[in-house]
Amino acid sequence: MQLTGTMKINAEGHLEIGGMDTLDIAKEFGTPLWVLDEQGFRQNCRKFREAFDRLGESMVLYASKTLSTLSVYRMVEEEGLGLDVVSGGELYTAMKAGFPMERVYFHGNNKSREEIEMALEMGVSRIVVDNFFELQLLNSICLEEKKQQDIMLRITPGVEAHTHEYIQTGQIDSKFGFTLSDGQAMEGVKAAIKSEGLNLIGLHCHIGSQIFEMESFRHATAIMMGFLGEVKEILAHEFDELDLGGGFGIHYYHGDEPCDPSEWAKAVMLTVKEKAEKLGIKIPRVIVEPGRAIAGPAGITLYTIGSFKEVKGIRKYVAVDGGMTDNPRPALYNARYLAILANKADQSPVETVSIAGKCCESGDMLIWDAQLPRVESGDILAVFATGAYTYSMASNYNRLLKPAMVLVNEGSADLIIKREDYEDLIRNDRMVARL
Ligand SMILES: *Cc1c(COP(=O)(O)O)cnc(C)c1O
Repeated sequence: MQLTGTMKINAEGHLEIGGMDTLDIAKEFGTPLWVLDEQGFRQNCRKFREAFDRLGESMVLYASKTLSTLSVYRMVEEEGLGLDVVSGGELYTAMKAGFPMERVYFHGNNKSREEIEMALEMGVSRIVVDNFFELQLLNSICLEEKKQQDIMLRITPGVEAHTHEYIQTGQIDSKFGFTLSDGQAMEGVKAAIKSEGLNLIGLHCHIGSQIFEMESFRHATAIMMGFLGEVKEILAHEFDELDLGGGFGIHYYHGDEPCDPSEWAKAVMLTVKEKAEKLGIKIPRVIVEPGRAIAGPAGITLYTIGSFKEVKGIRKYVAVDGGMTDNPRPALYNARYLAILANKADQSPVETVSIAGKCCESGDMLIWDAQLPRVESGDILAVFATGAYTYSMASNYNRLLKPAMVLVNEGSADLIIKREDYEDLIRNDRMVARL
C-alpha cells in the first residue's frame, strides 16, 4: 500500500483522501473517478521548488502534459511554479486559467505556424526550438511581426536514462532536438545566434521519464555544461539558462524507489556549479520540468468492481467499470500499479486477481496479479499514483465516457473535470443529409 499526501485508512476501515471517505466520494460523483489530493499536489510542487531554490537561481516548471486542466494550472501558479506547454491546446488552457505568460515555456517537435503565432501573440516567455525547420519558421514569423522572441534550443545529449525504452528520449536516435554528437547542436546554436528575430538565451534537454538514478541527471548535466563551455570557446556566446527537463521517477510498484527531490536538486545544481567553475563560464539559471512526480502520487482512481471470470487453475479475472480509456499506460507500455479495495482497506490480501478493463481489447488489463482481500461485485477499487498521464491520455474508445475528476481537500470534494455524458460523445458528429 502506498498512502501518500492526505491518504489514510479511517475508523470504518475505508480509504480516506483529502479528509473524505472514498466511498462517499464514489457515491456522490460515481465511478470511474479520478480523485486529486489538493494538499498532496501542492506539497509536491513545493518540495521541488524549495529543493532547487535552496541551491541557487532556478525555476521549476510543471510539465503540463501530465495533467492539464484549469484548476490544476491555478494551483501550479499559486505554488510559484512555471509551466511547460507542448501544444496550442495546453497554451489555450493556460491562458484561460489566467496563467502568467512570463512563466510559460513552449516545447514541441512540430509546432505549427498557428501555434507559433498564438504563442507570440500571448507573449510566452520562451519557445524551446526543436529543429532547423522550426528555427527558420519561427525566425521568419518573428521578422514578419517585427518581434524578437527569447528561445532555447532542445539538445539531444545522448544520455540513456534507465527506464522503459518507449519513454526514453535522450538517446541519439530520437525524434527530438538537435543531436549533440554529430555537430548538429553546434550548427543549431550558430544558426540561432544569426537569426535576428530570435534571442538565444538557453539550452534544453530532457533525457527520459520515470528515472530513479540521479547519476543519469548528473551525467546529462555535465554533458550539457561541457557543451556550454564549447559554445563559449568557439562562438564567444554565453547562456543565461539551462533547462534540464523532467523525468523524476515515482513509486508505482514494488521496487520503485524514488529519491527525495533534494537529491535531484543536488545532482543538478552542484554539477552546474562545479562545471561552470572548471570551464570558466557563468552559472546559468537552472530550469527543471517535473510532471509525473507532482501530479502522479497525488491522484488515485476509483472504480466499481463488476463481473468476474475464473479460468480454472490459471487466473481469476475481475472487471472494473473503466480501463484503458481512463488509464492507457498498462496497455501502452506495461505500466504496473498497486491497488486496494477502498471499502476493505483494513483487510489483508487473501487472493490474487487480475483487474480487467471493459474495453474490447484483450490487452485492456489494468493490473495483472493484484493481491486483494476477498473481491466482490460492488467493491470499490482504488488504484494509486494515477494523477499523471491518465486524464491527459484518456480516450473515448468503445465510446466510453471520460470520467470526472474531483479535487479533495479538508473534507470537501469539488469537480475539476465534469463527467462526460452521451451528448458529449456525439457533439462533433455530423449526420450527412444525403444518408
Ligand atoms: C515529458 C516531459 C517532461 C515531464 O516528464 P516527467 O517524467 O513527467 O517528469 C518534462 N519536459 C519535457 C520536455 C517532456 O517531454
